[in-house]
Amino acid sequence: MSYPELDLNLTVEQKATRDMIRKFGAEVMRPVGIQLDLLADPAEVIAEKSVLWDVFRQYRQLGLHKRGLPKSVGGMLEDIDLMQGIIIAEEMGYADSGLAISLGVAGNPFRYAALSDDPEIKGWARDYVNDLECKMIGCWAITEPDHGSDWVMATQDDFNKPETGPSLKAVKKGDEYVLNGQKSAWVSDGTMATHAALHVCLEPSKGMHGSGICILPLDRPGITKGKPLNKLGQRALNQGEIFFEEVVIPKKYMVVSDYNLSLPLMRGILTNANTGMGVTFGGLAKAAFDEALKYARERVQGGIPIIQHQNIKLKLIQMFRRVESARSLARRTMAYNAANAPMGSPLHAIASKVTSTEAATEVAAEAIQIFGGNGLSKEYVIEKLFRDAKASMIEDGENSALSLAAAGFF
Ligand SMILES: Cc1cc2nc3c(=O)[nH]c(=O)nc-3n(C[C@H](O)[C@H](O)[C@H](O)COP(=O)(O)OP(=O)(O)OC[C@H]3O[C@@H](n4cnc5c(N)ncnc54)[C@H](O)[C@@H]3O)c2cc1C
Repeated sequence: MSYPELDLNLTVEQKATRDMIRKFGAEVMRPVGIQLDLLADPAEVIAEKSVLWDVFRQYRQLGLHKRGLPKSVGGMLEDIDLMQGIIIAEEMGYADSGLAISLGVAGNPFRYAALSDDPEIKGWARDYVNDLECKMIGCWAITEPDHGSDWVMATQDDFNKPETGPSLKAVKKGDEYVLNGQKSAWVSDGTMATHAALHVCLEPSKGMHGSGICILPLDRPGITKGKPLNKLGQRALNQGEIFFEEVVIPKKYMVVSDYNLSLPLMRGILTNANTGMGVTFGGLAKAAFDEALKYARERVQGGIPIIQHQNIKLKLIQMFRRVESARSLARRTMAYNAANAPMGSPLHAIASKVTSTEAATEVAAEAIQIFGGNGLSKEYVIEKLFRDAKASMIEDGENSALSLAAAGFF
């Protein structure tokens, strides 16, 4: 870290967590993220021999995948305090945001599974906790080719028009549901996932407010996957389509089967996801700043380090202000929303996500100016940080759609 942190009175445990995650970030996540980013074909990212799996395995050996799961299934949810949670999310975003998202979302369906009373479903959560070989990987499948921001707007009271409803339909037949439809190429971990938390349409006449959630293994007959998506930033993050054709699941897999819950549930999910994004991308904003500061101290022009030029000083202080403002809002929001789960404040969560992802993108763009021509070169990480940040402005909700939704909470 390049300037003193304002974290006062960190406990011994919090300092140990910080040192552990910072080491994992610097020695494992950052270098592997750079390697994966350079691969031309995204299929290589998830190939059997890919270095991606070293990151996944080491993450699980450190026990970090247990963070979101309760002790009742062998998790560590109750053992991680708020500050430790913030430090882990920030440092992972600092190291490599694409990998941070990939590692985090891999636990998504198992967090739902842990809440189930059904022995088979709860068993998935236990198996995930014990799976150090990374045979179990989850994804969160919500976006569809024709419904992206519609899911964000679904958090509004009036967004219940039939034409906005999910295309992926779940029809109840006796003790089973039959699924037909597809999720879009943007599903994170989509093509490598073994299990999904899947948002489906239960009642078409209610539009987005007629939806439910099932969790299921993705090896059931009728499920196929697309090719890994080739994209601008966060290239270490695998993404891809999942197709469902006459897929039969037992009704117990529909963990949210009452569509009357879809509105409060979507608000809770939006709040939770955006709160985490705010902290994670505050970390990326800081990473971009640190690269710029380091370079400005080393690069000499006019016979002096460029940090001594007034224009560079001014840029740096403005960047610093943006980073610290974003991180402060993100931390404060996470503290409030953790204490007021599950609903928290969607307004603050969105404000934090938008602020952090904008800060990351704008600070990385300014950092490129400070690097001059070198900022555009693949020899330096800053152009990657810029691309990673740009992706975050659309991830978990495009920022203007999110902002419109946030205004609905005034
Ligand atoms: C890196 C990354 C990771 C992601 N991970 C996942 C994941 O794990 N699971 C998953 O399911 N999805 C995931 N997504 C998908 C993401 O949530 C969607 O891309 C996002 O919600 C935007 O949807 P869209 O791309 O279809 O854009 P669209 O909804 O088509 O939006 C296009 C433009 O239209 C505007 N717009 C749309 N609707 C409105 C409206 N009602 N009012 C005003 N303006 C509007 C938007 O603001 C935007 O500028 C991910 C995306 C990215 C980039």
